[in-house]
Amino acid sequence: MSQDQQQLFDTEPQPWQLDDMDDWVAARVAFSEAPYGPYDYEIPSPLESEIQAGVRVEVPLGRGNRHLKGYCVAVINAGHPDAASVNPRKLKPVRRVLDRKPIIGWRLLELAKWISEYYLCPLGTVIETIVPPGVRDNAGTREILFLALAEGVMERLLRDELKISPKQRLVMMQLAQGGDWTPRELAETVGCTQAPISTLRRKGLILASTRRIQTRTHEIPTEDRTANLELNADQQFVLNEIVAMVESNTHQSFLMHGITGSGKTEVYIRAIQKVVEFGRQAIVLVPEISLTPQTRQRFRARFDRVAVLHSHLTAAQRAWHWQQISEGNVQVVIGARSAVFAPTPHLGLIVLDEEHDGSFKQDKAPRYHARDVARWRAEKESVPLVLGSATPSLESWARAEQGTDRLLSLPNRVLDLPLPDVATIDLRIDFGGRKRTGPISQKLRQEIRAAINDGGQVILLLNRRGFSTRIQCPACGHVEHCPDCSIPMTHHLDGNKAICHYCDHQIPEPNRCSDCGSPAIKFWGVGTQKLEREVQAAFPDVPITRMDTDTMKKPGSHEKALTAFREGKTRILLGTQMIAKGLDFPNVTLVGVINADSALHFPDFRATERTFGLVTQVAGRSGRGERGGRVLVQTFSPDAPAIVAATRHDYIGFAKGELPNRKEYHYPPFGFMARIVIRGESSTKADQMSEHIADALTAAAKTLELPVDVLGPAPAPVEKLRGKFRFHIQLLSPQAGALQAVVTHAKSTIKSHDDVQWIVDIDPQDML
Ligand code: ADP
Ligand code: ZN
Ligand code: ZN
Repeated sequence: MSQDQQQLFDTEPQPWQLDDMDDWVAARVAFSEAPYGPYDYEIPSPLESEIQAGVRVEVPLGRGNRHLKGYCVAVINAGHPDAASVNPRKLKPVRRVLDRKPIIGWRLLELAKWISEYYLCPLGTVIETIVPPGVRDNAGTREILFLALAEGVMERLLRDELKISPKQRLVMMQLAQGGDWTPRELAETVGCTQAPISTLRRKGLILASTRRIQTRTHEIPTEDRTANLELNADQQFVLNEIVAMVESNTHQSFLMHGITGSGKTEVYIRAIQKVVEFGRQAIVLVPEISLTPQTRQRFRARFDRVAVLHSHLTAAQRAWHWQQISEGNVQVVIGARSAVFAPTPHLGLIVLDEEHDGSFKQDKAPRYHARDVARWRAEKESVPLVLGSATPSLESWARAEQGTDRLLSLPNRVLDLPLPDVATIDLRIDFGGRKRTGPISQKLRQEIRAAINDGGQVILLLNRRGFSTRIQCPACGHVEHCPDCSIPMTHHLDGNKAICHYCDHQIPEPNRCSDCGSPAIKFWGVGTQKLEREVQAAFPDVPITRMDTDTMKKPGSHEKALTAFREGKTRILLGTQMIAKGLDFPNVTLVGVINADSALHFPDFRATERTFGLVTQVAGRSGRGERGGRVLVQTFSPDAPAIVAATRHDYIGFAKGELPNRKEYHYPPFGFMARIVIRGESSTKADQMSEHIADALTAAAKTLELPVDVLGPAPAPVEKLRGKFRFHIQLLSPQAGALQAVVTHAKSTIKSHDDVQWIVDIDPQDML
């Protein structure tokens, strides 16, 4: 614990800081609902021993003094650094302390405070994000009454000083032998009713106390052990660098840039083995989609106690894992984004695999990015952080170039396997020619046939789900849109529906134009459903699996599909980006990208980065075995730098080309960005509010003399969503902390509007 933290968490006043006048103690309490606080409360002396930072308390709030639950986030006395901000004479008293032990430890509480300040989110909301609901409601546990003999009664019994019945005597003799006894179990064992037990309790000879116990324990599954692989020279070098930091308990952030199939996971495992040898725990963050059985198995085959935190856990299971982790019973925690909050008692290492993945950013408050949270945590706990990717985010790449993070490279595939050849198929030519063959070009079709005939397997990527992606009237040109969103409806074959992919609004498949009434309405564009049908028609003898959010709704379906593919029961796996990442199938000899441009032209400064990443990642699924492999990329923009770089597996070339574009506009990583999104049912009111907020932000930047550019307001690219009109404002600044300061200052001058909501997104990932 550092000096500062020591002070923050000490509830004992330091003797040299106290004089008689200053003998007060206050609790700072944050709420998870408005008004969020934090507010300070007096701690009545009987509660002084019970209260500490991290417990929940009940306090009076407002004129009516209604009772409210809140989180005690600090205990402040006259010697505390924040003492000056407390007016001890004006405080209302805490009513009740609700937890015996903190439900959030001091390290995570400090982390919560940082998240609250950095992402401009109320502290109570952050705490509720960190501590899972199951833990907060003690899910999977029960309060149980246990009995014990009162002090000294056994001696009195033996000296025959007690007047008790023979049954009562039996009860006492049983208790004297030790063990945990509930009234029911005791009565059963002794063979009596509850009456003698109750009498003894009334006489004060036996005492009852409650304890919270697990109603059900869960197993942490294990796998058969497999031996360590022999590392190649690159892997060994990279491992040594990380282990040096593990051994010296030093924080260092590493960017492990390893091409697909270069053996990154093996290096993580070996580094974690060191961590475990030191009696510490590791956290491994992966995109939710990568929490596949394969990932679990790989770790469970090397470690005894691996906790996998995935989104299908029940509240009770989650609470149980949380408990196990906090007691140090878990060596490795693997999970998606929120596993960064795992309450490990002795953290030794954090790994973020596929660190470029967008799912590490939460899209509701607190809008945190797990990479930045992990970095903060690793720094504070003096442990290394390893960010791994074949296609690092440009933010991470820039840090490595500047030397803030250390770059570790795995430039080759393991066992000297070559990267697959990538060829592009120019869809413009294919469209122009006479041989229009639907979503699969002639060339791709031939290659699929060849791969199947050679006994290989095929992965086909199409990042659009549904059947037809556009419903348009050829008579008037009208495109059917969601009534609530400015989004074209997608035609789904199952149930003959049209669905809005943003809000899930569904209508029956239209049979005439909703604008001009023409019955000539047509379905255009290809989604994964249609692709599946076309592939099946072209290869009727080949078993196919489709993976997208429509087919993967049931828990376990993901697992099932991948197992069938691994075992060769299905030969073609087609789907959305969920098949692009992390999968390691040595028998895949062909990867086809149906349309590489689908996201290239989004109004988002990361559109090229995402396109490059997706194509490179899916290409990396090919040729992971001895058979080698190929990749065919269908595209309308074969000359686009992102596509060209992806066909060459050239991350560094891509970064070199793209970074100057970012620099020119001061976009991340060359500046800090925040996005304000304003929405309301009335377009006019939302628009007016946006102007008001933009003015307030501009004024705040001026007052604070901070270099912040306010861009907008403008209609958001998705202008209407779930019936609300949306506007956005972008804030850019070269200076760390400036955006937070300006927004906070502006907030105090912004008049809220009942019908218009607005949110602040720091370091936004989603620009739509
Ligand atoms: P990445 O995470 O970089 O995509 P993986 O760690 O998944 O790569 O490794 C790809 C494959 O290579 C896996 O099947 C893994 O078991 C295997 N592998 C990793 N390191 C070695 C090694 N040193 N020798 C042999 N096989 C290895
Ligand atoms: Zn909609
Ligand atoms: Zn029409």
